[in-house]
Order: sequence, then structure tokens, then C-alpha cells
Amino acid sequence: MRYAIVQKLDENSKKVAGKVIDQLSQNNWIHDDEHPELVICIGGDGTILYGVHQYIKNINDLMFLGIHTGTLGFLTDYTQDELDTCLHHLLTRSPKINKAPLLKIEVDQWEDPVYALNEMRIENVIKSQNMNVYIDGEFFEKCRGSGICLSTQAGSTAYNRSLKGAVIDSGLSVMQLAEITPIQHSKHRSLGNPYIMMENRHVRMVSDDFSTAMLCYDHFATALNDAKEVKVQFSDKYVHFARYREYSYLKRLKNLY
Ligand code: NAP
Repeated sequence: MRYAIVQKLDENSKKVAGKVIDQLSQNNWIHDDEHPELVICIGGDGTILYGVHQYIKNINDLMFLGIHTGTLGFLTDYTQDELDTCLHHLLTRSPKINKAPLLKIEVDQWEDPVYALNEMRIENVIKSQNMNVYIDGEFFEKCRGSGICLSTQAGSTAYNRSLKGAVIDSGLSVMQLAEITPIQHSKHRSLGNPYIMMENRHVRMVSDDFSTAMLCYDHFATALNDAKEVKVQFSDKYVHFARYREYSYLKRLKNLY
């Protein structure tokens, strides 16, 4: 098996990575960061995001596995305390594949789309942002506030959760729209609650002034400047998580509280 390592830059994660490389090399696995079949991310859920974007071009041909060097996350399946178990599973088991779809985000002023595993956000921390939201071409609501967040199932436990969005059970493929600190008064009202949509929805956000807003997607942030329209839908790109053992989603959730 050809594998790549993506690691967080702290000393502990480096040490764990060293041990993984030693063990896998001794078992004739090939460390190949250019053309891997499996990308092993060592650090946290954030490290998985880095790995995904590092290999975004041929993401559909790869599998991902996460080893957490802190407490267990949502995208990582083992902690560093379970490293020996993890290596044993890697060397003796065939994984089941769980697919997580990526959002495709298109900005009218940009040549190429960008992709997100967790979420995309339009955020304005400088002034209140007005935008009209259309779903499948139909006007949905006018948002006024610090922005909006559109998250996936995988991202429902990330930024979305801080916005009091719903945590979505694993296995459901939906998109969730949540407003970020919305302004609500007698002359302006939007839904106010997070809205969970079918996976085949097309969402379009339009404003005649995004000049001080940022487009954030996973760990990236870029100024929208003169853009007037941002379109989001699920793409044909997926992260293929290699599951070498069952790990209850409820257990992951219960780690949060
Ligand atoms: P980061 O440091 O890589 O991540 C920030 C935190 O979000 C870390 O604790 C990370 O867990 C956790 N996280 C990432 N993906 C998650 C997921 N799917 N479910 C549960 N927790 C998750 O931060 P970044 O580089 O700025 O942004 C990466 C992601 O962090 C974004 O996609 C966003 O969702 C999230 N974030 C959340 C907030 C918030 O909740 N207020 C603020 C900023 C960013 P690990 O420690 O395991 O890496």
C-alpha cells in the first residue's frame, strides 16, 4: 500500500508520525506523498481538513484515515494511545469506506470553484452584511447580520454547532443553512432558525456589496471584494474515510459534553 502522511507541526504529532512510518515501512508499505492510496492524517480534525485540501485534485481516488494526538475527534478514528491497535488494524484488516461529500462553491468573479468538507461561510466583521438567499432559484430570505454558514453533515459539529445549528447524524447527506448573528427587528425578519435542506439543493447568495466580506471555507478565508454572487451545491467530489473499525457516532458526540 502507498501512503502519505499529513501531520500537525507540533513535536508530539511528529513523534507519532515517525512511529507510523517506521512500523509501516517494516511491513513493506511505501511512503509516497506524491501518489498515495491512503492519506494518514496525524493531529486533529483540523489536520484532516489540511490533508483533504492538499489532495483535493484527485480526492476521489484516495482514502483518508485520522489519528488524533489529543482527544478523539469527529473525522479521526483513533487516538495516539491506540496507535498499536490502529497499526495492527491497518496491517491486518480491509477498511469499509464512508463517503463524505464536498461542497462546491462558485464566486462570480473567480475562475475556478473551491471546495469544502465542513462548511462555507460568508462573514463580515466590519459592517452588517445584507444578502438575498435563493434556493433552487426561488427567493428564500433576506439576511442581515454578520453573515451565513452553510455546512455539511461532517461540518455540523464544527462552526455550525457554535451557531446553535443541529448536529446531523452520520449517514445523512444534507446541507444546513445558519445565520451568523442575524439582525431581527420589526422591519426586518429572516427565518432565524437553522434550515436543513436536501442534498440536491442549489443555494445562491446575492448582494450588491460584498466588498468587506470574506468567503471562508474550511480553514481558508478570501476577500470577496467586487463579487456579487456566490453559488453553493454539493459537488461530485467525496472524501473517502477508511474505517478499519466501527466507532459509534454517539460515543464521539458524548465526548463533547
Ligand atoms: P482549526 O484550529 O483547524 O479547528 C478549530 C477547531 O474546530 C479545532 O478544535 C478542530 O478540532 C475543530 N474541528 C474542525 N473540524 C471539525 C469537525 N468536523 N467537527 C468537530 N470539530 C471540528 O481551525 P481553522 O483552521 O480556523 O478552521 C478549520 C475548521 O474549524 C472550520 O471548518 C470550522 O468549522 C472550525 N472552526 C470553528 C469555530 C467555532 O466553532 N467557533 C471557529 C473557527 C473554526 P481539532 O482540535 O481536532 O483539530
